[in-house]
Amino acid sequence: MKAITVKQPGGAEQLQIEEFAKPDPRDGELLIKVKAAAVNRTDILNRETSKGYLNNPILGVEVAGIVEEVGAGVEIEVGTHIMGLVNGGGYAEYVVMPAERAMVIPENLSFEEAASIPEVFLTAYQTLFWIGHLHADENVLVHAGGSGVGTAAIQLAKQIGQANVITTAGSKEKLDFCRSLGADVEINYKEQNFDEEVLNATENQGVDLILDFIGASYWSKNLESIKVDGRWVLIGILGGANLENVNLMELMSKRIQLTGTLLTPRSDEYKAALTAEFSAKTLDLFGNNTLRPVVDQVFAFNQIQQAHEHMENNKNIGKIILKVG
Ligand code: NAP
Repeated sequence: MKAITVKQPGGAEQLQIEEFAKPDPRDGELLIKVKAAAVNRTDILNRETSKGYLNNPILGVEVAGIVEEVGAGVEIEVGTHIMGLVNGGGYAEYVVMPAERAMVIPENLSFEEAASIPEVFLTAYQTLFWIGHLHADENVLVHAGGSGVGTAAIQLAKQIGQANVITTAGSKEKLDFCRSLGADVEINYKEQNFDEEVLNATENQGVDLILDFIGASYWSKNLESIKVDGRWVLIGILGGANLENVNLMELMSKRIQLTGTLLTPRSDEYKAALTAEFSAKTLDLFGNNTLRPVVDQVFAFNQIQQAHEHMENNKNIGKIILKVG
C-alpha cells in the first residue's frame, strides 16, 4: 500500500510517499480501507521533530473509510463506513483502528466530511464539557474560531452547551463564517483588543470559560478577559510556549482554574470513553445537519506537501482533507 512518511525532520518538502505492507488487525482492531484522512497540527509537529508518531513511521491520526477486515472480538461488520482516531498511520491506503474508536458515519456525510470530524470535534467536546465544565447560558471565549477545533467548538458550545459564544479570528472572512456556525460575538484580534471587546460583551464580568489555542502571546489579554472563578483550558501554543514576567498573583486573585491538556497521548481507554459519549450525543445531530463538519479544502494524496503548507500559512477555515485511493 502507499503511505506518507517523513524523510528527515523538517519542512513540508520532507514528506514522501512510500510503499508499505498492509497492516494486520489484531484482536479488537479493524483494518480500514482509507477513503479520506485529515491534516492536523500534530502531524506538522511530528514532521518537524521526529519520524512518525506513536512508533508509527506513517503520519496521520484520523481517517474515514470502509471496514475491510476485523480482528477477533470485534462486532462491527466488514463493509461498514466508519470514522475515528488512529494511533498514527492515517496517511495511508490502509490503517488499523481500535474498534472502540470507530464511529459509524451518518449516511448524509461524505468520507471527506467524516474525516474532518474525529480529532477536532472530540478535542472540542472533551475540552468544553469534560475539562471546561461548560454550562448553559455561560459565556465561553473560543480563540482561533476559524480553526478546525474552533469551528467544532463554536458549534458544540451552542448546540450542546447552550452557551453564549465569543470568538476571535484574524480575518473578516473567518469571523463571518464563525457567525454562520452560531457564534454570538466575533472579534478580529488583529484590529481590536479582544480583552476590551470581551469585557464590553459581558458587562465587564469576563467569560466563564476560555478555550485557548494560543498560549503565551494571549496570556495578559486572557487574564483580563476571564471572570473571577473562571476556567481556562490551554490546548495549543500557536502564540508561543514561554512567558516572561508573569505575576502569579493575578491567577490567585481571580481564583482562575487553568488546565492544560493534550488528547493524542491519552490512553486507549480514555479515547474509547470519549468516543462513546461523543457518538451518543452528536451522531444524530450530524445526521440531521444540526452539527456540520467543516471541510476547507480536499487535496489529492500526492499533494500532501501543499496540504501541510496550506495549514502552516493559516489559510484554512475548518479542516484540510487528504483524499485517499
Ligand atoms: P488550524 O485549523 O490549523 O487553525 C489554526 C488557526 O489559528 C490559524 O488558521 C490562525 O487563524 C490561528 N493562529 C495561528 N497562529 C496564531 C497566533 N500566533 N495568534 C493567533 N491566532 C493564530 O488548527 P487546529 O487543527 O484546529 O488546531 C488548533 C490548535 O489546537 C493547534 O494549536 C493544535 O495543536 C491544537 N490542538 C490541541 C489538541 C489537544 O488535545 N490539546 C488537539 C487538537 C488540536 P487566524 O487567521 O484567525 O489567525
